[in-house]
Amino acid sequence: MANFVDVILPIPLQKAFTYHITEAEADFLKPGMRVAVPFGKSKIYTALVYNIHNSPPTAYDAKTIHQILDDKPLVTHTQLEHWQWISRYYMCSLGEVMRAAMPNAFILESETIISKVENIEVKDYELKDDEFLIYEALLHQSSLKIQDVVAILDKKRVLPIINTLVEKGVVELQEEIYQKYTPKLVRYVRLHPNHKTEEKLQDLLELLSRAKKQREVVLSLFQMEAISNQPIKVSELAAQSGATSGIIKALIDKNILEEYHIQTDRVTFDGEAEAHEKSLNVHQQNALDAINSSFEKKSVVLLHGVTSSGKTEIYIKLIEAQLKQQKQILYLLPEIALTTQLVSRLQDYFGEKVTVFHSRYSGNERVEAWNNILNDSEKAQIIIGARSALLLPFKDLGLIIVDEEHEQSYKQFDPAPRYHARDAAIVLANLFHAKTLLGTATPSIESYYNASDGKYGLVELTKRYNNVLMPDIELVDLADKYKRKRMKGHFSDRLIEEMTEALDGGFQIILFQNRRGFSPIVECTTCGHSPQCPNCDVSLTYHQYRDQLRCHYCGYNSAMLKNCQACGNITLDTKGFGTEQIEEEVKVLFPDKRVARMDLDTTRGKYGFERLITRFEQREIDILVGTQMLTKGLDFRYVKLVGILNADNLLNFPDFRAHERSYQLMVQVSGRSGRTDLRGKVLIQTYNPHHNILQQVSTNSYTEMYKEQLDDRHNYKYPPIYRLIKITLKHKDYNRVNLAADWYAKSLNQLFKTNVLGPEFPPVSRIRNQYLKNILIKIPQKQSLSKTKEAISKIHNSFLSIKDFRSVRVVINVDNY
Ligand code: ADP
Ligand code: ZN
Repeated sequence: MANFVDVILPIPLQKAFTYHITEAEADFLKPGMRVAVPFGKSKIYTALVYNIHNSPPTAYDAKTIHQILDDKPLVTHTQLEHWQWISRYYMCSLGEVMRAAMPNAFILESETIISKVENIEVKDYELKDDEFLIYEALLHQSSLKIQDVVAILDKKRVLPIINTLVEKGVVELQEEIYQKYTPKLVRYVRLHPNHKTEEKLQDLLELLSRAKKQREVVLSLFQMEAISNQPIKVSELAAQSGATSGIIKALIDKNILEEYHIQTDRVTFDGEAEAHEKSLNVHQQNALDAINSSFEKKSVVLLHGVTSSGKTEIYIKLIEAQLKQQKQILYLLPEIALTTQLVSRLQDYFGEKVTVFHSRYSGNERVEAWNNILNDSEKAQIIIGARSALLLPFKDLGLIIVDEEHEQSYKQFDPAPRYHARDAAIVLANLFHAKTLLGTATPSIESYYNASDGKYGLVELTKRYNNVLMPDIELVDLADKYKRKRMKGHFSDRLIEEMTEALDGGFQIILFQNRRGFSPIVECTTCGHSPQCPNCDVSLTYHQYRDQLRCHYCGYNSAMLKNCQACGNITLDTKGFGTEQIEEEVKVLFPDKRVARMDLDTTRGKYGFERLITRFEQREIDILVGTQMLTKGLDFRYVKLVGILNADNLLNFPDFRAHERSYQLMVQVSGRSGRTDLRGKVLIQTYNPHHNILQQVSTNSYTEMYKEQLDDRHNYKYPPIYRLIKITLKHKDYNRVNLAADWYAKSLNQLFKTNVLGPEFPPVSRIRNQYLKNILIKIPQKQSLSKTKEAISKIHNSFLSIKDFRSVRVVINVDNY
C-alpha cells in the first residue's frame, strides 16, 4: 500500500499538501515533525507533518519528501489542535498560524546548490551540449544555483538535465538546509591537567612567585574549585581575582589554565528568587478563595479588581498553587515591552522558573524558549508573553492568566492569523482542561457580559491595597475656562494649580494626551489649505522637534513648509495638539522641573521604553507627558496627579467601542495616581463635562457604564449581542475597489440581507496608495457562526475566480476590534 503524508507549509495555502513517503518513513514520521519538501518549480520548504495516511491526492501527483528534519515532534498534538481551531475560527490557513507560531529559525531555508563531483574528468563527447555547458561552468566556479543553470542554458526546464548529470556522476546536489540556530557558548576555565596534583600546583605557584597577579588568579581558581564543583566561568574568575581578561588569557596561552565551552541558554535569569512572601490582606484573600471556588464549577473566571487592589499578588498565589502540582502557567500581557516591572516582580518570586517570550528576542532566544517549554524544563514553568506566546508547545498547562484582558492589542490586526489572544487562550486552556483567569480593573463589555450571563465566574475586588482611596477625579470645563480667559496654552488654571501643589509636595505628575507630534493639522490662514499625505487620505502631523511634517499611517515625511502650497502665503497655523506641544508648554510653565515625553517617537530603540520607565521610577523625571503607553499596568509610587488634557477626541472617535475604550483608558490612566498611601488627584479637561462617560469615570461607576453601553449594543446590533465579521477590500485603483466591493456586498446581501452593512469607505479611505472599502456582517446569536463562515468562504472563492478582481486584496477579520 502506498504511503502519504499531509503537511502544513508556512505559506497561505488553503489546503494541506500531500507527499509520497516510503513505508519506513511512514513508520518513523509523526505529526508535528518537520520535513523538507519540494514545492513549486525549485523551492524547498520546511513543512510540518500533519497527517499520515494511504490515500493519494486526486488533483495532482504526489512528489516525494526531500528529507526528514526531526527525530521527534517539535510541535505537539495539542498545539496542532489549537492551531486548527484558530485557522477555522479566524478564517485563515494553517500555514499562516504556523508562521505566526514558530520562530523563523525553525522554518529552515534552502536553495538547491549544484557542484561538480571532485576529481572527476569528463570527456566532452560523453555529455550532451546542455550537460557540457553546465560542467564547463562548474570548472570555473565551485557551485551553481538552479537559477544560474536556468540562465546559462536559457531554458526553464532544467531539472531533467541536472538529473542526468547526477546519474552520470558528474555533479552532486547539495540541498543543504541551513539551521539558523546557533547555541550560545559560555567560556569556562579550569586548571590545566598538567598542574592538577597538589605537588605540581606547588611548583606552579613557585614558578609564578614573581608574577603576582597571575599567581593571584591561580590561587583564586584553586579556591573556587575547592568550594564548589560547578564549572567556573571566565567572567566569575575575573571578578573573584580582580584580574583583567588579559591576565587570564596569558595564563591560558601558557597552558597553565585551560579554557573550554559549554552550551548554555541565553534565556537565563541570573538573580536569586528573593522576595519575601507577601501575605494577602482580607479582601485579597476573599477574592482568592472566591476564584478558587469558582474554578470548581467554571473554567473561566473574571477578576474585576480596581486599580492598585493588588491583583498581581493574587496571581502570584494562584501561580504558586499550580507550581506545586507541577503544572505550567501562561501569563499573558497585552504588550511585552510594557512589562519590565511585572517581569522583575515575578522573577523576584519565582527566579529561574520564569521564561519570558519576547517579540523583540532574537531568533535564537525564541528557539531556546520553545525547546524549554516543549521539554517542560525547570526554566519554563511560568511563561510570560504577549499574544503569540499562546502558540508555544506547552506540555502540561494548568492555568492561563490574561492580565488587562480588556486591552485591544490582544487582537492581532495584521497579518493573519487575526486572532484574539484572550479568546484563543480560553480555547487553549480547555484543550488542557486548565483554567483561565481574566484580570482587569475595567473589563471589556464582552467579558463582563459573559460573566453576568454565568458563562464565566465573576469575582470583584473593590478596595485598593492599604485602603488607599480611589483617586479624586475633577472635570474641568474647557469652554468655560476659555471664555473666562483662564487658560495658558492648553492648561487650565485648575491644572496649573494642582500641578504646582503636587510638585511643591515633591510628587510626580503624569499628563496624558492621546496624540503624538506637535499638532495634527497645519492650515493656511489665508486660503485654508492644509498639507495632506501624498500616499494616504490624512493630514500631515507637524513634528516641531525635527521641523517636519509626518504621516502617521505610512511614515511619509517632508520638511515643514515655509509657505502655503496652494496660495503661497507665509502665514501657516497649526490646529490641535499632541504630546510634543504639551511637553513644550510644560517646560515654559515649570522651567526648573524635569520633563520627559513617552510616545512612539521617544521609545523606538530596543530599550527606549524601559529607560524612560526606570528614570521615572528613580524620580529623575518630575513630569511625564505621554500617550496611552502610560496606561498599561504601571506601578509608580510617587505620582500624585494625573492630568488628561483633552477627553473629547477620545470620546468622539468614530467607532462603536469609542465610549467603552474612553472609559477604560481614563480609569486606567487615573489609576496610576496615588498608589501608595496618599489619595491621588485626577483632572480631566473637556468641552463636555456632562458626558455620561465622563460622569461614570469620575464616580467610578463601571456597572453604570456597562449597562448603558450594553443597551447601545443591543439597539445598534453590536458585540457582544451580535458578532461581527469585517471584510476589507484594498486596491490602488479606486474604481476597481468599488466594483469589487459592490460585487462582494451584493453576494453577501443575498444571504444575510439587512445584516450586511456597506460597502463603505472608512474614515481614512486611502493608506499607502491603496483605497480601502469595508463590508460589515452582523451575526445574530441564533445564527450558526460556522455556517456563516462557510457561506462567506464560498462567496470568497467565487470572488477569487473573477479575473478582474484577482489583484484586489481581501482581508477577513472575524470578531473585528
Ligand atoms: P493591581 O495589579 O491590582 O493594580 P498591584 O498588584 O500592582 O495592583 O498592587 C498595588 C501595590 O500594592 C503594589 O505596589 C503591590 O506591591 C502592593 N501590594 C499589593 N498587595 C500586597 C500585599 N498583600 N502585601 C504587600 N503589598 C501589596
Ligand atoms: Zn501617508
